[in-house]
Amino acid sequence: MAADRSPTKITLAESEIPRRWYNLLADLPQLPPPPLHPGTRQPVGPDDLSSLFPMTLIEQEVTTERYVDIPEAVLDVYALWRPSPLYRAHRLERALGTPARIYYKHEGVSPAGSHKPNTAVPQAYYNAQAGMRRVTTETGAGQWGTALAFSCAQFGLECEVWQVRASYDQKPYRKIMIEMFGALIHPSPSPLTDSGRKVLAEHPDSPGSLGIAISEAVEVAAQNSDTNYALGSVLNHVLLHQTVIGEEALLQLAKVGETPDLIVGCTGGGSNFSGLSFPFLREKLAGRMDPTVRAVEPAACPSLTKGAYAYDFGDVAGMTPLMKMHTLGHTFVPASIHAGGLRYHGMAPLLSHVKELGLVEAVAKTQRECFEAGMRFAHAEGIVPAPESTHALAAGVEEALRCKETGEAKVILIALSGHGHLDLASYGAYLAGDLIDHELSDEAIAAATSALPSVSA
Ligand SMILES: *Cc1c(COP(=O)(O)O)cnc(C)c1O
Repeated sequence: MAADRSPTKITLAESEIPRRWYNLLADLPQLPPPPLHPGTRQPVGPDDLSSLFPMTLIEQEVTTERYVDIPEAVLDVYALWRPSPLYRAHRLERALGTPARIYYKHEGVSPAGSHKPNTAVPQAYYNAQAGMRRVTTETGAGQWGTALAFSCAQFGLECEVWQVRASYDQKPYRKIMIEMFGALIHPSPSPLTDSGRKVLAEHPDSPGSLGIAISEAVEVAAQNSDTNYALGSVLNHVLLHQTVIGEEALLQLAKVGETPDLIVGCTGGGSNFSGLSFPFLREKLAGRMDPTVRAVEPAACPSLTKGAYAYDFGDVAGMTPLMKMHTLGHTFVPASIHAGGLRYHGMAPLLSHVKELGLVEAVAKTQRECFEAGMRFAHAEGIVPAPESTHALAAGVEEALRCKETGEAKVILIALSGHGHLDLASYGAYLAGDLIDHELSDEAIAAATSALPSVSA
C-alpha cells in the first residue's frame, strides 16, 4: 500500500487559538423567530431574562454582530487544552478500505472530556464579572455538570448541580468528578424545590429527565438574587461559544490544503454540531466552499428528523421562555439510551431555523449501529468515543463506505464531541449483547407532540 504521508495529527500553536467567536446570525438571509414570554407570549426582552443570566450573555443571545471577542481570562483557561487536535483518521480509512479522507476534531481532550467547557468557561467568567456568588444548572449524563463545576472553580464561583436521577444512580463517576471540582450535586427530582416536590408527589420513583432538572435549577436561580442559571446547550450564546471548534478546524484543514465535502456531528441540544459547522456555513454562504452539513440524532429522541417545528418550553414545568424549535414536546421522556447527552426533547432554535432554511440536513440512528461504529473507531484510532459521539462516527463510517462503493475520495469531517472513559459500562452492555434499539413509533411522536403550547401566529 502506498503510504499516505499527510500528517496524522494537525495541531496549532497556542497563539493560534481563535480570539473571537463567530455569530452565524450575522450572515443568515432571515433571522429566527424570537423567544416568547411563557406568561404573556410576547417576545421576551432583556429584563425577562435578567433574573437568570448576566447581561453580557443576554446581549450575546440577541446580537447580530458577526464576531464577539473572547475575553483574555477565557483564552487563558482555554489554553489548558485548546487548540484541540484535528486528526486524519488514516487507520480508520485503512480499516474501512475507503478512498474517503476522514478527519475528526477531538474535543475529548478538555478537562471535562467533552466540548462543554468551551461555553462553561465563558459563562462562569461572565457570571463572576457580574458579581454572582453561585451558579445552578442541570446535568444529564454528567458532562455539563462536570464542565460547569470545573469552570466555576476557575473563577471562584459556587456551583450547584441537579443531575437526572437515573444517571445519578447509574453513573457515579461523573458525580465524583463534579465533587472533585468543588460543586454541590443533587439527584433530580429533589425535595429541595417546588418543581421537584411536585414530581415526587406524583411519581416517588421518577427516574427524572433533563426537563425536570432544568425546572429545579431555574427555580433556585430565579428565587435568589446572588444566583444565576447556566445552560449547556440550545441557547444562541452557547452555540456562539462553541464556534471556537469550527474556527480552529478551518485553520487546521487549511494547513493540509483540504476543504470538507461532508461535516457530521451528533445533536442533543445542537451545540457541538453547530460549533463545528457554523464557521463552515459562513464559508458556504460566502461561496468559498460547499460542504454538506449533516446532523445525527438518536432514533429514540428524533427531534430534528421527526419532531414538530413549533414553539415549546425548554423545561417540563413550563417556566422557560417559549422557543420555536424542533421538539418532541416538553413533557416527552425518551427511552434510556446510553447516549444520555442526546435525550433532550428539543433542539437549539438557531440550529432548527438553519435546518428550516435548508442549510443543514439531519438523520437519525439507532444505538447499536452507533456503538458498532464506536468500536471500529476505538479499534483503529485508539480513542474510546463518548456514546453521543458514536452517532457522528456512524454517519461518517456510513459515508466512507458509500465512497468505497462509488470510488469517490470525499473529505469527511467528524465532530468527536468527547471521550467515553466514564461510559465504559455502556460498551460493556454492547459487548454483552444487551443493547436494545429504540425507535419511536409515529403514534408515540403524535402523542408526544399533541400537547404543544398554543401560540397565536
Ligand atoms: C452534551 C454532549 C453532547 C450533546 O450536546 P450538544 O449540545 O448537542 O452538543 C454530545 N456529546 C457529548 C460528548 C456531550 O457531552
